[in-house]
Formats: sequence, C-alpha cells, structure tokens
Amino acid sequence: MKLRKASALAATVLALSLTATACGSSDDDNGGSGSGSGGGGGDKITVGIKYDQPGLGLKTPDGSYAGLDVDVATYIAGELGYEPGDINFVESPSAERENLLKRGDVDFIVATYSITDTRKEQVDFAGPYFVAHQDLLIRVDDEVNSVDEINDLTLCSVAGSTPAQNIKDNVAPDAQLLELATYSECLGGLENGTVDALTTDDVILAGYAAQDQYQGKFKLAGLDMTDEFYGVGVQKDSELREQINTAIQKMIDEGKWDEAIEKNVGPSGYVSEGAPEITETN
Ligand code: GLU
Repeated sequence: MKLRKASALAATVLALSLTATACGSSDDDNGGSGSGSGGGGGDKITVGIKYDQPGLGLKTPDGSYAGLDVDVATYIAGELGYEPGDINFVESPSAERENLLKRGDVDFIVATYSITDTRKEQVDFAGPYFVAHQDLLIRVDDEVNSVDEINDLTLCSVAGSTPAQNIKDNVAPDAQLLELATYSECLGGLENGTVDALTTDDVILAGYAAQDQYQGKFKLAGLDMTDEFYGVGVQKDSELREQINTAIQKMIDEGKWDEAIEKNVGPSGYVSEGAPEITETN
C-alpha cells in the first residue's frame, strides 16, 4: 500500500468548501410533479437521472442529457408512449431518490440506482438493466491491493449510497469517510490529495477517469467489492413496474441495449458483463 492517509482536518475543510460549491447545481430543474399516468398522449413524463456521471447520466453544458441511464429512460418512455421531447429530466441525488418517488415528484428513476432490500421497503424496482461492482478510484501512482488496506484510508463517497453504507457497515468501519451530495464533488479532493480514494460503482469511476481533465491522473483499484444491480425505481405498487420490465426486455432483445452500452460505457474502456436477467417482477 503506497497511500499516505489524508488528514482529517484537510478532509473536513474540503467537505465544507465542497458543500458550499454544490449549491445551485440543479437550479434549473423542472422539479414539479410526475404525470404518474404512464399513458402518453401528449402529456409529459418526469424521469429522475444523475446529472454528473459521464457515460451514465450527464447534463451537458448545452442543456442536453447523455448516458446509458438517459438512453434506457428514453427507450422506456418511448414504450410508454412519450416522445423524447415529452421527457422532463430531474436531477436525482443518491440520498433523494426514495423521497422523489414517494412524493410523486418523478414517475420513475434511472440513476445508477442499486436494488436493495432496504430501498424496497420504500419503493419498487423494475429490472435490473445493468450490473456494476463497488471499487475505488485512486491517483495513478497509488496502489490499493486489498480491501484490508481501506481501513487506513480517507475516502470520499456520497450520502445515501450503497458504497458509503458498505464502507461503514462491512468493508472498512475504521476508514475516514467523507460523504458529499454527488460523486463529482469528490474529484477535486482526490486530485489535490485531501482524500485518498473515491468509492462507488466501477462503471461510474471509469467514466470519471476517462474525462479529458483527468486523463492520466486517476485509475481504478480493481477491487470488485460488491454486485450492484441497477434497477428502475418506481413508486410502491406502481403499475409502471411491469410495463418498464417489458420495455427493458424489448430493448435488450432488439439489440438497442447493446448499442447503448457500446455508445455510452464503451468509451471509458469499461467492459460490461452483458444484460442481467430481470428479477423485479410482481
Ligand atoms: N449504485 C449505488 C447506489 O445506488 C451507487 C451509485 C449511486 O449512488 O447512484 O447507491
């Protein structure tokens, strides 16, 4: 292990400064309520995605949206009777997803959203449509060769995410863990050395590592700590679940899922395992 543990004070200062800069990232959200009907016919449909995860859910500077989750969401919406222009995308930070669904602020969420029993107490999932694995993003000259080394690190992750919970409960209860609102807020700390690693799903980390401004700076540790099955979140007992499962299966059968993977995830060098079997049925 070649990492030097970042100091707690530096991490705290980083947390405060990043919390301040995080404000206002979603000031132009559509917000509002979801249509909830799933019926199409000229209505709008409101879909939760991430805004800062390249290759998955990204709001681009020109105000358009790109990524695997955006393409999956757009395909599903199409099967429900909505044109791409009828979709209102809403930013869905990890800790807000159950609340957004329960309040009816969104019709469904496609946002690197792992299916878990705890979340299923509050919401239902369709899918899964993708499988990823928890890993660490570290500076290119560092090494973390086993999970046993993580207890010695200062980590950054996101509040309300499965990777943060897994660090606290299972992998490294002694590690210092900075929990911010979004993963992209952790990148500055990783770059300037105030944190040793950013932890979340490998497919998300690969997207950051491949960004132009981080070329040659970061790499994945390759620890493959968990299986994260990404589901489409819906309200409890929503009829949308069955329709969304049908749409996902059709996307896979038509080869559109493979196309979406190649277009969105391929450029980061991430090798997908293929479409998982749909398990979240009524
Ligand atoms: N898939 C994990 C989760 O749902 C991590 C990614 C995220 O926070 O969106 O918590």
